[in-house]
Amino acid sequence: MIILKKKLKLKPSILKKIKIVGIVVVIFLAFFIFLQNQKNTLRKLGYSEQAISNILLKWKTATVKEIGKNQTVNAAFESKDYQDDYLKIYQKVEYQDQKNLIRNINKLIQKGYKASDISMILAHGNNEDVTNFAKRKKVKYLEQFFSVSYAKLRNYDRYVSYYDKEREDAETTVLRVNMDFDKEEYTDPLEIKNFSEKVLVNKHRQLVEEYVPKNLKEVPSSLLKDDSEKIMVVSSVLKAFQKMQEAASKEDYHLLINSGYRSYQDQEETQQVYLEAYGQKYVDSYVAKPGFSEHQTGMSIDVASADTSVFVESNEYDWMMENAYLYGFILRYPKSKEEITGYKCEAWHYRYVGEKIAKYIHDHNITYDEYYIQFLDQE
Ligand SMILES: [Zn+2]
Repeated sequence: MIILKKKLKLKPSILKKIKIVGIVVVIFLAFFIFLQNQKNTLRKLGYSEQAISNILLKWKTATVKEIGKNQTVNAAFESKDYQDDYLKIYQKVEYQDQKNLIRNINKLIQKGYKASDISMILAHGNNEDVTNFAKRKKVKYLEQFFSVSYAKLRNYDRYVSYYDKEREDAETTVLRVNMDFDKEEYTDPLEIKNFSEKVLVNKHRQLVEEYVPKNLKEVPSSLLKDDSEKIMVVSSVLKAFQKMQEAASKEDYHLLINSGYRSYQDQEETQQVYLEAYGQKYVDSYVAKPGFSEHQTGMSIDVASADTSVFVESNEYDWMMENAYLYGFILRYPKSKEEITGYKCEAWHYRYVGEKIAKYIHDHNITYDEYYIQFLDQE
């Protein structure tokens, strides 16, 4: 009996233990399922695994669920620079793929910038630009310049001083400074590294000596003003010129080519010839320095008329002024734009930019310099 009693006594205590273990397991399982649920919700919102574990660790799931899908918040939770107090600001800052994004956002918040200012700052520079900008005191006129889509963060000080000096509106200021109007011609030029057929070469942007364009093709002698010469241009230019020349020819206008690709060394020689013949002043106005000539791109041609030697007096000149853009060519140095291009009008010098860009330039009466800076400049 005694033994039995003892056994009976033991049984409920084991049962109790089993029950407790059972409850713990159930709680644990429930918690695990709950956690998986939270994780799945966050995953569905696009948060990374790293961000998710930090969100859970910081007990921020509910807040993040409320915020919803947000790349900047994701980056914040991925970053060791995350600051809890700034969460509300992070969610309003437009994301940029930059290395020190959250650290820079923190600094900019500390400098007193609002989320909208910070978005603007991030959008106008790369990681290095933003890192440098975040070190300086809060600036004025931020919105004024950076509401211009192509404004560059690293040019901020130059915008301010150009604006103070020239009293142009903000957009003109940004355009002109990006075009390096605040620098002397040929001084401190940008060395062009990324070459494409759209490349912009002018008195502030230089091609390296070794640069030779790809796809150079020889112009057939039937298209040359002087058929004893050998002239090369990029194949897309030749194709477009042939199409244009045929169209002109049908209307009894006779277009020819006088010059095309010129190497760095050719340009050196050209400069020397003109220097000896006409002097420095002429050379400065009309002859590009080596590396600064658009002819080195292979995308430019000097057009001639079959009937006369002074192109500007020819019927072909008038025809080109009316029609060249339809074939992708633009008059690169027009009379009304000497101040912008830095060149005296060259009635014969055409640049191939393709039909779409040529039409835009024609319709808006702008130069290629302005077009490039507004729409193609990635530097
Ligand atoms: Zn030319």
